[in-house]
Amino acid sequence: MKIVDVKTYSLVYPVQEPFANAMRWTRERAFGVVEVITDSGITGWGEGATVPARRAIEAQVIGRNPFHNEVIWEGLHKQGTDTAAISAIDIALWDIMGKALDQPIHHLLGGAFRDRVQAYATGLFRRDCADHTAALVAEARGYADAGFKAMKMKVGFGPDYDIKNVAAVRRAIGDDILFAVDANCGYDRGSAIAVGQKLAENNLLWFEEPISADDVEGYVQIRRALNMRISGAEQLRGRWAFRRMIQEGALDIIQPDVCVCGGFTEFRKIAAMASANHVRVIPHMFGTAIRLAATLHLLAALPDAPRALEPFPALLEYDMSENALRTMLAREPISHTDGIVAVPQGPGLGIEINRDLLEKYS
Ligand SMILES: [Mg+2]
Repeated sequence: MKIVDVKTYSLVYPVQEPFANAMRWTRERAFGVVEVITDSGITGWGEGATVPARRAIEAQVIGRNPFHNEVIWEGLHKQGTDTAAISAIDIALWDIMGKALDQPIHHLLGGAFRDRVQAYATGLFRRDCADHTAALVAEARGYADAGFKAMKMKVGFGPDYDIKNVAAVRRAIGDDILFAVDANCGYDRGSAIAVGQKLAENNLLWFEEPISADDVEGYVQIRRALNMRISGAEQLRGRWAFRRMIQEGALDIIQPDVCVCGGFTEFRKIAAMASANHVRVIPHMFGTAIRLAATLHLLAALPDAPRALEPFPALLEYDMSENALRTMLAREPISHTDGIVAVPQGPGLGIEINRDLLEKYS
C-alpha cells in the first residue's frame, strides 16, 4: 500500500457565545485536518493544531507505505515540520493501519484495558455576564445533573474571582464530585502559590497549568509548596519537551494532547517515559471529533497506574463548549451517557467523517 495524496483542511467554527480562559476570549475555534489517501482506496483522517506544508508532504509522505509511521514521523521532524502538523499526519496513518487490518486503533496500541471511559466535563469558563458566581454554580449543577462525576473550572482571573468562585462551585456540587481547576498559565510563580494555597482548601483533583507551560523550575517549586496535584504540558510538542518536565519531577500529571504532542507514535513514547518515572497521564482534549476519537483509543490502551484495586480513574477531558466540529464532524456523534463515553469499536479511528460539515467550515 502506498500514499498517493494528502488533502489539508483549515477549519474555523464561529462560536455563538464567546467564552474566556485566563489568557484569551474565544470567538472562533480553528483546527487543521488532513485526509491521507492511499492507492488501496483506504483514506485516513488526522487532526493537528496546524497542517503540514505541501513541500514537506511531497518530500516525506507521498509515495510512502502508511505502516512506516516512525520513518514518516522522523522525516517530517527532520525537515522542520511543526510537531502539531506531524500529529495530524500520524493520526491519519494509524487510521489507515486500523482500517487496512480491520481493527480499531486501540487494538494496534496493545489492546483495551477498558471499553468505557469516565469523562470529566470541561466548561465553567468565564462568560460575559453580570453575576459570574451564579452562572458558574448553575452550569456546574447542570453537569452534575447530566451524570458527570468529575468536572473542571477555569481559574487564573485573580485571587478574588478564583477563591470566591471555586469555593461556591465546590459547595454547589458537594464533596462526591471530582473537581479540578485550570489556570491556563495565567499566574506567575508567587501568585500561583498564594492563590493555590487557598484553592487547595476545596479538595481539588488537580491544579492545571498554574504558570507558563515551559517553566520547569517554577513547576518544581509550586509542586513542593502546594498540597495538591499539579498538572500541565498540554502545549508541549515532542518527547524532548516532556523529558525535563517528567524527569525533574515538575508535574504529578502530564496532559499530552495527541494533536499537539506528535500523534499516537509520539504519545506512546511520552507515556512510556511518564510510566517509568511514576507520573500519571491524563490526555488533554479540546478539538474536533477526530481528536475526541483518537483520545478515546489512547485512554482505552493506557494501563492503570498504580495497578490498584480501586485505581484513580482514566479520565477523558469532555469539552462541553459549543463546537459543531466536535459534535457533528463524525456521522455518528461520540456522546456521553451519565458521564461515561464508549470507546469507538470500528476499524481505525472508528468514525465516519461528515464531508458536508467539513466543506461548510473549511
Ligand atoms: Mg488546560
